[in-house]
Amino acid sequence: MIPHVRRVTALCALTAALAACGSTRTAQAPRPAPSATSAAPSPAPPRAPTVAPGPGGLTPVFAHGPRTRGKTVALTFDADMTADQGPRAAAGERFDNPPLIATLRRLRVPATVFMTGRWAEEYPDQARSIGRDPGFEVANHSYSHYAFTDDCYGLPTVPRERMRSDVERAYAAFRKAGVPDPKPYFRFPGGCYDRAALRELAAAGVTAVQWDVVSGDAFATDADAVARQVLEGVRPGSVVVLHCTRSAAPVTERAVRTIVPGLRREGFRFVKVSELIGAANGQR
Ligand SMILES: [Zn+2]
Repeated sequence: MIPHVRRVTALCALTAALAACGSTRTAQAPRPAPSATSAAPSPAPPRAPTVAPGPGGLTPVFAHGPRTRGKTVALTFDADMTADQGPRAAAGERFDNPPLIATLRRLRVPATVFMTGRWAEEYPDQARSIGRDPGFEVANHSYSHYAFTDDCYGLPTVPRERMRSDVERAYAAFRKAGVPDPKPYFRFPGGCYDRAALRELAAAGVTAVQWDVVSGDAFATDADAVARQVLEGVRPGSVVVLHCTRSAAPVTERAVRTIVPGLRREGFRFVKVSELIGAANGQR
């Protein structure tokens, strides 16, 4: 395991797309979704703004909001837990980050949490608490946190025929945990997607949400460096990717305590992804 962990960590340090770095596991077939989950109705709630589908009905991709409609910024937190990390959680590894959520509440920062279904199963009380808090919105980061393309930071791959059910299984996990209104936004594990994945998810009715600012918080040990990278990278309408998992992103809460007042000093207002998408649609 250790050489593999080092390899993945090195990759994380060298690459921009850090969202996958919580996983250090080798390939393993994902479990199929239960049939009841596959038969679940479309998860899209009625009032969340979405981006219109792409050509041929492809799943739309959103990376940032308008640059010219005010200084808004969306902090997004990926609550990563991979389908095969249950034994690690049972052994004491913490994939949650309650102090981070508490800090966001204390600082009154609206935020979007991209949660894996496996995370909601492990931490149902936290999932429900975040989901019921009007300051947050819960979005989908897959059930398994397996990759939707080949060659995605060493993550195992979801077979194409199970991509949609993996997304729907996460919504089922959110409902079971008591999240009342998960949004129809989906973040690909590792941010890895291709045309085939966008086609497979078209029927799920989700908008894929990427980002334009990488915080670099995965495996970071220097909170100030993370904060600096965000403060230097944010522009009006930016979507910032951070993580809500102490295991793989231990300094995020400290970084947020610098990022939030720093951006507020520059005149930025924190919004959820839904507000950026609404602004992009002219629905303000
Ligand atoms: Zn992730």
